[in-house]
Amino acid sequence: MTTTEKINKPVKKEREGKLQSSRFWVQIAFTILCIWIGIEFYYFLRFFETGGLEGSFSRPPGVEGFLPISSMMSVYYFAITGDLHQAHPAGFFIFLGIVSLSFLLGKSFCSWICPVGFISEAIGDFGDAISMKLFKRKISIPKFLDYPLRSIKYLLLAFFVYAIFMSMSAAALKAFLDSPYNVISDVKMYYFFADISQFAFTVIAVLFILSVVIRNFWCRYLCPYGALLGIMSIISPLKIKRDAEKCTSCSLCTKACPNRIVVEKVNYVLSDECSSCMKCVDACPVRDTLYLQQVVTGRRVKKKYVTPLVLGSFFFFITLGIITGNWQNKITKEEYEVYIEMKNSLGHPTGLESDEHRELIEQRNKDAKDAVGK
Ligand code: SF4
Ligand code: SF4
Repeated sequence: MTTTEKINKPVKKEREGKLQSSRFWVQIAFTILCIWIGIEFYYFLRFFETGGLEGSFSRPPGVEGFLPISSMMSVYYFAITGDLHQAHPAGFFIFLGIVSLSFLLGKSFCSWICPVGFISEAIGDFGDAISMKLFKRKISIPKFLDYPLRSIKYLLLAFFVYAIFMSMSAAALKAFLDSPYNVISDVKMYYFFADISQFAFTVIAVLFILSVVIRNFWCRYLCPYGALLGIMSIISPLKIKRDAEKCTSCSLCTKACPNRIVVEKVNYVLSDECSSCMKCVDACPVRDTLYLQQVVTGRRVKKKYVTPLVLGSFFFFITLGIITGNWQNKITKEEYEVYIEMKNSLGHPTGLESDEHRELIEQRNKDAKDAVGK
């Protein structure tokens, strides 16, 4: 039997151990949290839409978790100036939480916490079930196409890294972070989806359909955040280890892997696509053969510690943000009133590397602050 044929055989549910059920409940909990953040943000915006008659001036800071580019800029600004920018401080801590989690436990954010990863996984399971029924095999992109497609997300990441880390000075970063565009980027994102254009809707629908046919299409090929976490996972000291002496080459680990990693052939899983979902570990029927290992000390990490490790490292920085009083932003109601009113005329500030252009943006930022008397 070829490896591809082996991969296409379904894995029996009963082989999924306890870790898969805790991963599922963690995914559910974070999805509910995101829905709750969305509902609270809706009422926050109703407050401004109705002149304070409905909703409330209570903005959920967690919404900043959906602003990774602004958060990355904020982290870089902090690294070069020591100043924590106050437009989206929660985004700063969430970004650090996600990156540190990826350093510790690979791309576990994607398979444990990210609601897009959760939806993508559910769509992929649905797509696999259909293709197994129709074609008796799972559909996957051939390798000669898979590798170039996987590089798209790295190209997108390289673009952001170049645009931020290689091109922006501290003054340029500050001008961007201070801009009303950045301050209400969460509001703009909300209206992007609430008043979605036909073009954007079509793109999302195409991505959805592609994700049914090709598992994890968005995450595997397009998500630049996943690319960053994939790089962090390569340097992570915790890796999945296969004990070749005990391995019976049953292929159950390879069949269980949603990211098409041929686990049965490696001593350590070193792939940037590994999302630390632990499905392979749960699937392995031979005791102490496939496990998480600290590669420096060679110590094994027991399954029962994986869930606390994921949650602990993600919430460490969030707790730090809360206890240091840097969780809620310091944007006033008056600022939101003026900026939300201006939202359709606020464009992405560009050309901040040029002194002349940056001074223009700084003047605009000042005018916007003067308009709210700040
Ligand atoms: S190698 Fe194991 S932990 Fe990594 S993605 Fe595949 S199944 Fe999940
Ligand atoms: S590591 Fe475990 S599941 Fe994978 S081939 Fe070996 S025995 Fe089978």
